[in-house]
Amino acid sequence: MLIKHSICPSCSVGCGINLICIDNEVVGTYPYKKHPINEGKNCSNGKNYYKINKKNSFKTPLKNSGNKLIEFDWDRTVGSISEIISSYHSDEIGIISSGKITNEEATFLKNFAKKKGIRKIGVYSHNFPKISTEKLISNYDELNNAPFLFIIGDIFVKNPLIGRRIAIASDNGSKIFSADYSDTSITSINSDNYFKISSITEFLNNFPKEIENELNKDSVIIFNQLEDKEDFEKIEKISNNNDSKILPVLSDPNSYGTMEYLPTLDKNDLIDLIDGVKVLIIINSDIGDYFGHAEINSKLKKLDEIMFLTESLPEYMSNFDYVLPIPQMSEKSGTLTNTIGKSQSFEKVVRKDESVFSIEKIFNEILKD
Ligand code: SF4
Repeated sequence: MLIKHSICPSCSVGCGINLICIDNEVVGTYPYKKHPINEGKNCSNGKNYYKINKKNSFKTPLKNSGNKLIEFDWDRTVGSISEIISSYHSDEIGIISSGKITNEEATFLKNFAKKKGIRKIGVYSHNFPKISTEKLISNYDELNNAPFLFIIGDIFVKNPLIGRRIAIASDNGSKIFSADYSDTSITSINSDNYFKISSITEFLNNFPKEIENELNKDSVIIFNQLEDKEDFEKIEKISNNNDSKILPVLSDPNSYGTMEYLPTLDKNDLIDLIDGVKVLIIINSDIGDYFGHAEINSKLKKLDEIMFLTESLPEYMSNFDYVLPIPQMSEKSGTLTNTIGKSQSFEKVVRKDESVFSIEKIFNEILKD
Protein backbone atom coordinates (compact mmCIF):
# COMPACT_ATOMS: atom_id res chain seq x y z
CA MET A 1 0.00 0.00 0.00
CA LEU A 2 1.25 3.49 -0.88
CA ILE A 3 0.00 6.88 0.32
CA LYS A 4 0.70 9.72 -2.11
CA HIS A 5 0.13 13.46 -1.83
CA SER A 6 -2.10 15.09 -4.43
CA ILE A 7 -4.47 18.04 -4.96
CA CYS A 8 -8.21 17.45 -4.62
CA PRO A 9 -9.79 17.76 -8.09
CA SER A 10 -13.38 18.00 -6.87
CA CYS A 11 -13.68 21.78 -6.53
CA SER A 12 -11.63 24.96 -6.92
CA VAL A 13 -10.53 25.40 -3.29
CA GLY A 14 -7.29 23.48 -3.91
CA CYS A 15 -7.09 21.32 -0.78
CA GLY A 16 -4.33 18.79 -0.46
CA ILE A 17 -5.45 15.17 -0.34
CA ASN A 18 -3.62 11.91 0.23
CA LEU A 19 -4.47 9.04 -2.08
CA ILE A 20 -4.24 5.47 -0.83
CA CYS A 21 -3.08 3.23 -3.66
CA ILE A 22 -2.98 -0.55 -3.84
CA ASP A 23 -1.89 -2.42 -6.98
CA ASN A 24 -1.79 0.74 -9.06
CA GLU A 25 -5.33 1.78 -8.13
CA VAL A 26 -6.69 4.53 -5.88
CA VAL A 27 -8.66 2.67 -3.21
CA GLY A 28 -9.26 5.51 -0.76
CA THR A 29 -8.24 8.92 0.52
CA TYR A 30 -6.72 10.28 3.68
CA PRO A 31 -6.53 13.94 4.76
CA TYR A 32 -3.29 15.73 3.89
CA LYS A 33 -2.51 16.86 7.44
CA LYS A 34 0.14 19.48 6.71
CA HIS A 35 -1.46 21.15 3.72
CA PRO A 36 -1.99 24.86 4.53
CA ILE A 37 -5.33 25.23 2.74
CA ASN A 38 -7.38 22.45 4.31
CA GLU A 39 -5.53 22.22 7.65
CA GLY A 40 -5.82 18.46 7.92
CA LYS A 41 -9.39 18.05 6.66
CA ASN A 42 -11.04 16.85 3.46
CA CYS A 43 -14.75 16.98 2.75
CA SER A 44 -16.95 14.12 1.51
CA ASN A 45 -17.06 15.66 -2.02
CA GLY A 46 -13.31 15.24 -2.28
CA LYS A 47 -13.34 11.76 -0.75
CA ASN A 48 -16.16 10.55 -3.03
CA TYR A 49 -14.70 12.05 -6.20
CA TYR A 50 -12.33 9.13 -6.68
CA LYS A 51 -15.02 6.50 -6.04
CA ILE A 52 -17.42 8.04 -8.57
CA ASN A 53 -14.73 8.54 -11.19
CA LYS A 54 -13.49 5.00 -10.77
CA LYS A 55 -17.02 3.62 -11.16
CA ASN A 56 -17.59 5.59 -14.38
CA SER A 57 -14.14 5.19 -15.91
CA PHE A 58 -13.74 3.54 -19.31
CA LYS A 59 -10.75 2.59 -21.44
CA THR A 60 -11.92 2.17 -25.03
CA PRO A 61 -13.21 4.85 -27.43
CA LEU A 62 -16.85 4.61 -28.42
CA LYS A 63 -18.30 5.38 -31.84
CA ASN A 64 -21.93 6.05 -32.65
CA SER A 65 -23.31 3.45 -34.99
CA GLY A 66 -27.06 3.56 -35.65
CA ASN A 67 -27.72 5.58 -32.46
CA LYS A 68 -25.78 3.06 -30.42
CA LEU A 69 -22.30 3.62 -29.06
CA ILE A 70 -20.02 0.72 -29.84
CA GLU A 71 -16.39 0.16 -28.90
CA PHE A 72 -13.92 1.32 -31.58
CA ASP A 73 -10.13 1.03 -31.58
CA TRP A 74 -7.87 4.02 -30.91
CA ASP A 75 -6.15 4.19 -34.31
CA ARG A 76 -9.38 4.20 -36.29
CA THR A 77 -11.02 6.66 -33.85
CA VAL A 78 -8.18 9.19 -34.04
CA GLY A 79 -7.90 8.64 -37.83
CA SER A 80 -11.63 9.31 -38.31
CA ILE A 81 -11.52 12.46 -36.14
CA SER A 82 -8.51 13.66 -38.06
CA GLU A 83 -10.36 13.19 -41.38
CA ILE A 84 -13.41 15.03 -40.02
CA ILE A 85 -11.31 18.00 -38.87
CA SER A 86 -9.52 18.16 -42.23
CA SER A 87 -12.78 18.15 -44.18
CA TYR A 88 -14.24 21.26 -42.47
CA HIS A 89 -13.16 24.90 -42.55
CA SER A 90 -11.52 25.91 -39.27
CA ASP A 91 -14.39 28.37 -38.59
CA GLU A 92 -16.83 25.45 -38.67
CA ILE A 93 -15.00 23.71 -35.80
CA GLY A 94 -15.47 24.57 -32.12
CA ILE A 95 -13.67 23.42 -28.97
CA ILE A 96 -15.18 23.71 -25.47
CA SER A 97 -13.31 22.73 -22.35
CA SER A 98 -13.49 23.51 -18.63
CA GLY A 99 -11.44 23.89 -15.47
CA LYS A 100 -11.22 20.09 -15.30
CA ILE A 101 -8.01 20.08 -17.32
CA THR A 102 -4.51 21.08 -16.18
CA ASN A 103 -2.69 24.30 -17.07
CA GLU A 104 -0.37 22.29 -19.29
CA GLU A 105 -3.30 20.72 -21.18
CA ALA A 106 -4.92 24.15 -21.59
CA THR A 107 -1.66 25.54 -23.02
CA PHE A 108 -1.45 22.59 -25.38
CA LEU A 109 -5.04 23.11 -26.60
CA LYS A 110 -4.39 26.81 -27.15
CA ASN A 111 -1.39 25.94 -29.35
CA PHE A 112 -3.29 23.19 -31.18
CA ALA A 113 -6.14 25.60 -32.02
CA LYS A 114 -3.62 28.18 -33.24
CA LYS A 115 -1.90 25.67 -35.51
CA LYS A 116 -5.24 24.55 -36.96
CA GLY A 117 -6.63 28.11 -37.25
CA ILE A 118 -9.53 27.24 -34.91
CA ARG A 119 -10.82 30.46 -33.36
CA LYS A 120 -14.01 29.18 -31.75
CA ILE A 121 -12.49 27.81 -28.58
CA GLY A 122 -13.10 28.54 -24.91
CA VAL A 123 -13.66 27.31 -21.40
CA TYR A 124 -17.01 27.36 -19.71
CA SER A 125 -16.74 28.21 -16.01
CA HIS A 126 -20.39 28.58 -15.05
CA ASN A 127 -20.58 32.27 -16.02
CA PHE A 128 -17.52 33.40 -14.06
CA PRO A 129 -15.27 35.72 -16.09
CA LYS A 130 -11.49 35.61 -16.07
CA ILE A 131 -10.38 36.81 -12.62
CA SER A 132 -8.00 39.74 -12.63
CA THR A 133 -5.42 39.87 -9.84
CA GLU A 134 -6.02 43.61 -9.44
CA LYS A 135 -9.37 42.94 -7.83
CA LEU A 136 -9.68 42.84 -4.06
CA ILE A 137 -9.62 39.06 -3.69
CA SER A 138 -9.68 37.75 -0.13
CA ASN A 139 -7.42 34.90 0.89
CA TYR A 140 -8.81 32.01 2.94
CA ASP A 141 -7.16 33.03 6.23
CA GLU A 142 -8.87 36.43 6.13
CA LEU A 143 -12.26 34.71 6.37
CA ASN A 144 -11.57 33.34 9.86
CA ASN A 145 -11.62 36.78 11.47
CA ALA A 146 -13.76 38.86 9.13
CA PRO A 147 -16.44 40.71 11.14
CA PHE A 148 -19.03 40.28 8.36
CA LEU A 149 -19.39 37.71 5.58
CA PHE A 150 -21.99 37.83 2.86
CA ILE A 151 -22.45 34.59 0.87
CA ILE A 152 -24.22 33.89 -2.43
CA GLY A 153 -24.77 30.16 -3.11
CA ASP A 154 -24.55 27.06 -0.94
CA ILE A 155 -20.85 27.25 -0.05
CA PHE A 156 -21.23 24.82 2.88
CA VAL A 157 -22.31 22.04 0.50
CA LYS A 158 -20.27 22.78 -2.61
CA ASN A 159 -17.05 24.04 -1.01
CA PRO A 160 -17.12 22.68 2.55
CA LEU A 161 -13.55 23.65 3.45
CA ILE A 162 -14.49 27.28 2.87
CA GLY A 163 -17.69 26.54 4.79
CA ARG A 164 -15.48 25.38 7.66
CA ARG A 165 -13.73 28.75 7.71
CA ILE A 166 -17.10 30.51 7.70
CA ALA A 167 -18.08 28.40 10.73
CA ILE A 168 -14.81 29.42 12.44
CA ALA A 169 -15.58 33.08 11.65
CA SER A 170 -19.04 32.65 13.14
CA ASP A 171 -17.51 31.19 16.33
CA ASN A 172 -15.17 34.21 16.38
CA GLY A 173 -18.18 36.53 16.39
CA SER A 174 -18.58 37.23 12.67
CA LYS A 175 -22.03 38.14 11.40
CA ILE A 176 -23.06 35.90 8.47
CA PHE A 177 -25.67 36.89 5.88
CA SER A 178 -26.45 34.76 2.83
CA ALA A 179 -28.65 34.60 -0.26
CA ASP A 180 -29.68 31.48 -2.17
CA TYR A 181 -32.56 29.97 -4.11
CA SER A 182 -33.44 27.60 -1.28
CA ASP A 183 -34.20 28.57 2.30
CA THR A 184 -33.31 25.08 3.53
CA SER A 185 -29.73 25.03 2.20
CA ILE A 186 -27.00 24.31 4.74
CA THR A 187 -25.56 27.79 4.18
CA SER A 188 -28.90 29.51 4.78
CA ILE A 189 -29.53 27.49 7.95
CA ASN A 190 -26.10 28.52 9.26
CA SER A 191 -26.56 32.23 8.55
CA ASP A 192 -27.65 34.99 10.91
CA ASN A 193 -29.77 36.52 8.18
CA TYR A 194 -30.89 34.83 5.01
CA PHE A 195 -32.41 36.15 1.76
CA LYS A 196 -34.38 33.69 -0.37
CA ILE A 197 -33.99 34.75 -3.98
CA SER A 198 -35.42 33.67 -7.33
CA SER A 199 -32.73 35.33 -9.45
CA ILE A 200 -29.17 36.37 -8.54
CA THR A 201 -29.24 39.06 -11.23
CA GLU A 202 -32.46 40.55 -9.86
CA PHE A 203 -31.16 40.39 -6.32
CA LEU A 204 -27.95 42.23 -7.28
CA ASN A 205 -29.94 44.83 -9.23
CA ASN A 206 -31.87 45.62 -6.04
CA PHE A 207 -29.13 44.91 -3.52
CA PRO A 208 -30.59 45.27 0.00
CA LYS A 209 -29.41 48.30 1.97
CA GLU A 210 -29.22 46.23 5.15
CA ILE A 211 -26.41 44.13 3.60
CA GLU A 212 -24.66 47.12 2.04
CA ASN A 213 -24.62 48.87 5.45
CA GLU A 214 -22.72 45.92 7.00
CA LEU A 215 -19.96 45.79 4.34
CA ASN A 216 -16.61 47.45 5.04
CA LYS A 217 -12.93 46.90 4.27
CA ASP A 218 -12.68 43.89 6.63
CA SER A 219 -15.72 42.07 5.27
CA VAL A 220 -15.86 39.60 2.38
CA ILE A 221 -18.49 38.75 -0.25
CA ILE A 222 -18.16 35.02 -1.04
CA PHE A 223 -19.99 33.59 -4.07
CA ASN A 224 -19.95 30.34 -6.03
CA GLN A 225 -22.85 31.02 -8.38
CA LEU A 226 -23.61 33.60 -11.09
CA GLU A 227 -26.35 33.74 -13.69
CA ASP A 228 -24.30 35.69 -16.24
CA LYS A 229 -20.96 37.46 -16.41
CA GLU A 230 -22.52 40.87 -15.70
CA ASP A 231 -23.39 39.58 -12.21
CA PHE A 232 -19.67 39.55 -11.47
CA GLU A 233 -19.36 43.23 -12.40
CA LYS A 234 -22.31 44.04 -10.13
CA ILE A 235 -20.64 42.29 -7.17
CA GLU A 236 -17.40 44.13 -7.93
CA LYS A 237 -19.25 47.43 -7.94
CA ILE A 238 -20.87 46.67 -4.58
CA SER A 239 -17.46 45.77 -3.12
CA ASN A 240 -15.83 48.90 -4.59
CA ASN A 241 -18.49 51.07 -2.94
CA ASN A 242 -17.39 49.98 0.54
CA ASP A 243 -13.84 48.60 0.01
CA SER A 244 -14.94 45.10 0.99
CA LYS A 245 -13.13 42.12 -0.47
CA ILE A 246 -14.56 39.42 -2.69
CA LEU A 247 -13.95 35.68 -2.85
CA PRO A 248 -15.25 34.19 -6.13
CA VAL A 249 -15.32 30.41 -5.70
CA LEU A 250 -15.04 29.00 -9.20
CA SER A 251 -16.60 25.72 -10.26
CA ASP A 252 -13.74 23.40 -11.22
CA PRO A 253 -10.27 22.66 -9.80
CA ASN A 254 -8.52 24.63 -12.53
CA SER A 255 -11.17 27.14 -13.66
CA TYR A 256 -8.84 29.99 -12.65
CA GLY A 257 -5.89 28.48 -14.54
CA THR A 258 -7.67 27.54 -17.78
CA MET A 259 -9.14 31.04 -18.01
CA GLU A 260 -5.56 32.33 -18.19
CA TYR A 261 -4.93 30.38 -21.39
CA LEU A 262 -8.26 30.09 -23.17
CA PRO A 263 -11.14 32.54 -23.74
CA THR A 264 -13.83 32.36 -21.06
CA LEU A 265 -17.37 31.63 -22.18
CA ASP A 266 -20.53 32.47 -20.29
CA LYS A 267 -23.82 30.75 -21.11
CA ASN A 268 -24.57 33.13 -24.01
CA ASP A 269 -21.08 32.75 -25.52
CA LEU A 270 -21.44 29.00 -25.17
CA ILE A 271 -24.76 28.97 -27.01
CA ASP A 272 -23.29 31.23 -29.75
CA LEU A 273 -20.29 28.93 -30.13
CA ILE A 274 -22.45 25.80 -30.45
CA ASP A 275 -24.84 27.52 -32.85
CA GLY A 276 -21.96 28.78 -35.01
CA VAL A 277 -20.14 25.50 -35.76
CA LYS A 278 -20.75 22.19 -37.48
CA VAL A 279 -18.15 20.15 -35.62
CA LEU A 280 -17.76 20.35 -31.85
CA ILE A 281 -15.01 18.92 -29.68
CA ILE A 282 -15.89 18.89 -25.96
CA ILE A 283 -13.06 18.19 -23.52
CA ASN A 284 -13.93 17.25 -19.94
CA SER A 285 -16.69 19.83 -19.80
CA ASP A 286 -20.02 18.79 -18.37
CA ILE A 287 -21.98 21.37 -20.32
CA GLY A 288 -25.10 19.19 -20.08
CA ASP A 289 -25.29 19.96 -16.38
CA TYR A 290 -25.83 23.57 -17.21
CA PHE A 291 -28.32 23.45 -20.04
CA GLY A 292 -30.33 20.52 -18.75
CA HIS A 293 -30.11 17.41 -20.86
CA ALA A 294 -33.11 18.08 -23.11
CA GLU A 295 -31.93 21.55 -24.13
CA ILE A 296 -28.34 20.54 -24.74
CA ASN A 297 -29.53 17.54 -26.75
CA SER A 298 -31.64 19.71 -29.04
CA LYS A 299 -28.65 22.01 -29.67
CA LEU A 300 -26.24 19.16 -30.24
CA LYS A 301 -28.62 17.41 -32.65
CA LYS A 302 -28.12 20.24 -35.16
CA LEU A 303 -24.36 19.62 -35.40
CA ASP A 304 -22.71 17.35 -37.98
CA GLU A 305 -20.13 15.79 -35.69
CA ILE A 306 -19.51 15.83 -31.94
CA MET A 307 -16.45 14.40 -30.25
CA PHE A 308 -16.44 14.12 -26.47
CA LEU A 309 -13.19 13.54 -24.58
CA THR A 310 -13.92 12.69 -20.96
CA GLU A 311 -12.38 11.02 -17.92
CA SER A 312 -15.67 9.35 -16.97
CA LEU A 313 -18.69 8.25 -18.95
CA PRO A 314 -21.40 10.93 -19.10
CA GLU A 315 -25.08 10.10 -18.60
CA TYR A 316 -26.16 11.77 -21.82
CA MET A 317 -24.27 10.31 -24.78
CA SER A 318 -26.78 9.61 -27.51
CA ASN A 319 -25.85 12.66 -29.62
CA PHE A 320 -22.13 12.12 -29.55
CA ASP A 321 -20.41 10.64 -32.61
CA TYR A 322 -17.28 9.69 -30.69
CA VAL A 323 -16.66 9.42 -26.94
CA LEU A 324 -12.99 9.09 -26.01
CA PRO A 325 -11.58 8.29 -22.55
CA ILE A 326 -8.77 10.52 -21.28
CA PRO A 327 -6.59 9.99 -18.19
CA GLN A 328 -8.03 10.95 -14.81
CA MET A 329 -6.17 13.43 -12.56
CA SER A 330 -4.56 10.59 -10.58
CA GLU A 331 -3.10 9.25 -13.85
CA LYS A 332 -1.25 12.38 -14.89
CA SER A 333 1.04 15.12 -13.58
CA GLY A 334 0.61 18.87 -13.97
CA THR A 335 -0.46 22.05 -12.24
CA LEU A 336 -3.84 23.33 -11.08
CA THR A 337 -4.50 26.95 -10.10
CA ASN A 338 -7.05 27.26 -7.32
CA THR A 339 -9.73 29.90 -6.92
CA ILE A 340 -7.40 32.40 -5.20
CA GLY A 341 -4.80 32.07 -7.98
CA LYS A 342 -2.38 29.72 -6.22
CA SER A 343 -0.82 27.27 -8.63
CA GLN A 344 0.00 23.83 -7.19
CA SER A 345 1.75 20.97 -8.92
CA PHE A 346 0.79 17.35 -8.53
CA GLU A 347 2.35 14.11 -9.64
CA LYS A 348 0.85 11.10 -11.29
CA VAL A 349 -0.03 8.69 -8.47
CA VAL A 350 -1.09 5.62 -10.43
CA ARG A 351 0.31 4.32 -13.68
CA LYS A 352 -2.02 5.28 -16.47
CA ASP A 353 -3.41 2.44 -18.53
CA GLU A 354 -1.14 2.87 -21.55
CA SER A 355 -4.01 2.03 -23.87
CA VAL A 356 -5.70 5.35 -22.95
CA PHE A 357 -4.32 8.24 -25.03
CA SER A 358 -3.57 11.54 -23.26
CA ILE A 359 -5.14 14.77 -24.58
CA GLU A 360 -1.73 15.68 -26.03
CA LYS A 361 -1.38 12.34 -27.79
CA ILE A 362 -4.87 12.51 -29.34
CA PHE A 363 -4.27 16.00 -30.75
CA ASN A 364 -0.69 15.29 -31.80
CA GLU A 365 -2.01 12.36 -33.86
CA ILE A 366 -4.55 14.75 -35.45
CA LEU A 367 -1.79 17.28 -36.22
CA LYS A 368 0.20 14.61 -38.08
CA ASP A 369 -2.34 14.61 -40.92
S1 SF4 B 1 -13.42 21.76 -0.28
FE1 SF4 B 1 -13.18 21.25 -2.45
S2 SF4 B 1 -10.96 20.94 -2.75
FE2 SF4 B 1 -11.37 20.86 -0.52
S3 SF4 B 1 -11.63 18.66 -0.06
FE3 SF4 B 1 -13.68 19.52 -0.45
S4 SF4 B 1 -14.04 19.19 -2.66
FE4 SF4 B 1 -11.85 18.92 -2.30
